[in-house]
Amino acid sequence: MRYCLKCRNEFEGERCPVCGSKKSREPAADDLCFLTEEGPLLGGMLEDVLKQNGIPVLSESSKGAALSVITSSLFEWIKYYVRYDHLPQAREIVEELLHSSEGLSEEEPEEEELEENPKEAEAGEEPESEA
Ligand SMILES: [Zn+2]
Repeated sequence: MRYCLKCRNEFEGERCPVCGSKKSREPAADDLCFLTEEGPLLGGMLEDVLKQNGIPVLSESSKGAALSVITSSLFEWIKYYVRYDHLPQAREIVEELLHSSEGLSEEEPEEEELEENPKEAEAGEEPESEA
């Protein structure tokens, strides 16, 4: 496993797949590693869950960049970093969180009452003629 000194991504191989940098070294347990990048809403939830699991998380807002003039806070992206030794567990939490939030948005009840078929309701009597 290698640890990119440029973008703090943890990867396998020679080059960092994120930034292409070759400047990497063996990760140490207390290295901060890039976990994920989320919007403020999901990111806030993620931060809470990580803290509940005893995983310290460092967040880096994209607002720090000069881009904040154009981008409203709604489109703010926050990068999250955790220690290398917390990374596997933190990734699982991210997966779970992403899955559950997808589930929530899909559960929204949509009114679909096109199933009723007036023709069949009128038929009433059903000729049960089975040969
Ligand atoms: Zn990198």
